[in-house]
Amino acid sequence: MTLDTWIWGEITVSIEQNLIEVRRRMDQGQQPGPTLVAVSKTIDPIQISEAFRCGQMDFAENRVQEWLAKKDQLPVQCRWHFIGRMQKNKIKYLDESIVLIHSLDRLSLLEALNTEGEKRNHRWRTLLQVNVAGDDAKAGVSSQEVPWFLDKSQKYPFVSLCGLMTIGRLNASVDETRTVFAALRELRDSMVALGVAAKEQFTELSMGMSDDYEIALAEGATIVRIGSGIFR
Ligand SMILES: *Cc1c(COP(=O)(O)O)cnc(C)c1O
Repeated sequence: MTLDTWIWGEITVSIEQNLIEVRRRMDQGQQPGPTLVAVSKTIDPIQISEAFRCGQMDFAENRVQEWLAKKDQLPVQCRWHFIGRMQKNKIKYLDESIVLIHSLDRLSLLEALNTEGEKRNHRWRTLLQVNVAGDDAKAGVSSQEVPWFLDKSQKYPFVSLCGLMTIGRLNASVDETRTVFAALRELRDSMVALGVAAKEQFTELSMGMSDDYEIALAEGATIVRIGSGIFR
């Protein structure tokens, strides 16, 4: 065996094992179960293909340029998610393999997505990113702005708001993290109760990464975004 195949073998085993482990920890018997999105930013297409071979189909990228360079080397069945701050001048490069944009964080982006959607007669599925933790370093609208944003969004028929996304606070205690995720769930439910979002459409909660996804699932996450826990 050459050194190359030995290293390749190690990668193969670890991605497969990591996926098995994450899926095992995610399986709490809910039906329908939450969606596992494998965060593939900075990961090369060979490793992403390996995850695909193990049955993983949802992947997330945070830079349009990087995604464009990789997606043609990967199976067309891949479902792509977008999780980074999106520049409006990059929207024209997106295509319908982007199944969900998790990082809708400003009205001007909503407008630009709507304009591009109208041109193509395509309705983008998005999540409103909320800076629940009130962290200066993070993107997203504040919790207080959510009703206003949802109300505005009703005027943009080519963008569908399917729920909320947040990033937990870095180096936080379990209790602090749980508080942030519970607040996102309560925010979703109160928007439905207020009548600014429709119960059947406004369902998703994208929350939880490698270090905190179990807490997020316990608080009702419908989507978890896991990078290093799979591709380490
Ligand atoms: C990088 C990233 C993740 C994945 O983080 P890990 O800690 O590697 O699981 C999830 N969500 C967002 C928004 C990210 O940028």
